[in-house]
Amino acid sequence: MASTIVFIGPPGCGKGTHAAKLSNDYDILPVSVGEYLRQEVKAKTELGVKIAYIMSRGELVSDEIAVEVVKGVCYSNREKNILLDGFPRTVKQAVLLDEFLPDYNRQVDIAVYFKVSDKEVIRRISGRRLDPLTGKIYHIEFNPPPEGVHTIQRDDDRIEVIKKRLELFYNETAPVADYYKKQKKIAEIDGEGALDEVYSRLLSAIKQYIEKTA
Ligand code: AMP
Repeated sequence: MASTIVFIGPPGCGKGTHAAKLSNDYDILPVSVGEYLRQEVKAKTELGVKIAYIMSRGELVSDEIAVEVVKGVCYSNREKNILLDGFPRTVKQAVLLDEFLPDYNRQVDIAVYFKVSDKEVIRRISGRRLDPLTGKIYHIEFNPPPEGVHTIQRDDDRIEVIKKRLELFYNETAPVADYYKKQKKIAEIDGEGALDEVYSRLLSAIKQYIEKTA
């Protein structure tokens, strides 16, 4: 059975960064519902226009939309180890995930909860900048863009939106961690500190479910 790993954490906790690094070093496919939705927005489909409005307000898209994205990935990648970065974000999504994964011969093996303080979240996200041409992410403090590179701030990275996303995280997503705690499938890791340190904490938590790429 292929592994299924879940990443949970507040916005800016480093889920996406670690998902990318992990998929580079190990045989695992990162799945970001947020990234999929941003593609839909870019394509300006009817659904994309609705999603753009929801995302720019820092709200969650409906459980149905998020579930459909993940189901599609499971359908097309039956043999692959997958890493769900930012899904489930509600207990309803977690319940639905447990219901449909067996159809794809899967189960959630482990849910990693990246713990980061609100203060650190705000520091990390409010400085985040995107180069719209290359998709590269910079940070005005930790990793400033090279001179001449024009960057923008994602609508949902604005301070008032971050606060809203944090509030939603505590109301809707933190209970997902309790859901996996009850199933004894949670690994809580400290998401603060140097990237390499957090990465090695992550590896020790999930090493039994992943294999190095050849
Ligand atoms: P992310 O890139 O993971 O920070 O997600 C960006 C935005 O996409 C979120 O603020 C939500 O609006 C939406 N989104 C991503 N994943 C989900 C999910 N599992 N359920 C509902 N909305 C989601």
